[in-house]
Amino acid sequence: MTLDNIKEEIEKASKIVILTHESPDGDAVGSSLAMYNALKQLNKNVDLIIPEYPETFSFLSGSENIKKETDIQHYDVAISLDATDIKRLNGFANYFENAKVTINIDHHGSNKMFADYNFVNPDAPACCQILILVLEFLGVNITKEIGTCLLAGIITDTGGFKYSGTSKETFEFTSWLLSIGVNVADVYRRVLEIRTKGNFALTKLVIDRLEFLEDGKIAFTYITKEDEKNVNAKNGDHDGLVDIGRTVEGVEISILLREADGFFKGSLRSNEYVNVSDLCMMFGGGGHPRAAGCSIHLPLEEAKEKILLEAKKHLK
Ligand code: 5GP
Ligand code: MN
Repeated sequence: MTLDNIKEEIEKASKIVILTHESPDGDAVGSSLAMYNALKQLNKNVDLIIPEYPETFSFLSGSENIKKETDIQHYDVAISLDATDIKRLNGFANYFENAKVTINIDHHGSNKMFADYNFVNPDAPACCQILILVLEFLGVNITKEIGTCLLAGIITDTGGFKYSGTSKETFEFTSWLLSIGVNVADVYRRVLEIRTKGNFALTKLVIDRLEFLEDGKIAFTYITKEDEKNVNAKNGDHDGLVDIGRTVEGVEISILLREADGFFKGSLRSNEYVNVSDLCMMFGGGGHPRAAGCSIHLPLEEAKEKILLEAKKHLK
């Protein structure tokens, strides 16, 4: 069984590296830090590499030890968390490729099964929720600190327990966390409620630009590099912007195009029936049925036209 292999490889390893996807969100940072703290508890020699992540998550234990890179070329084991594809590993696929053994733990249906051992469950609402099982199997004591990391990921990816993937286990685990003294309300507020000033400024912009198309079934908006510069946006300040369009009555698909280095990053959300992961796969991206992303290497107007054309095909 995969978990037996994962346990055996981790036990054998003397040097382990943990990696996660680019533009890391709460589930990416939370699952990486939970795994990092867990392996430390097992007295493992472990590095966690995340070049940049939102300041919001710096309250999580172990974040002070996150590295931007290391000069170790060959790790015994490389663990990828919350990433669909080796290409999404923050440009650090080399650490993964050079490792003796690779492990991929994820919850995306579009996962490419790119490791020696793949533990992927698309039914889990967050990678952090899969880790509950994995850490228990590894014999880790889920402390308040580790639990808080896991909760940060669960709250992020379930939108605060409101998305349809939120399961009985989600509530049972959160209830157990409360019983061991984790401050659930505080994590919720830090992860979902507090807005950075940059995010607030970008929110005003994207709302102002929000367009409703196809009889109000598609909401479209965008932000450019210039916008982010103007509001002095920090890493992660764009998180949640795509969700705004989805909250409007009648909208099925919400689309945000965000300018990156020489391309536009599409973020898509749907409400009831459109599989936005399938839609994004048309552009080489992926994700979940109700939340997905892709990269479009075209100028804004053309990227907009292309993605709208594709989106329309998915409407009833
Ligand atoms: P977001 O819109 O929040 O950046 O991403 C939504 C979901 O889609 C996340 O689960 C994220 O991992 C996934 N995702 C975003 N962009 C891409 C992409 O370019 N490729 C793939 N495979 N998944 C993506
Ligand atoms: Mn996730």
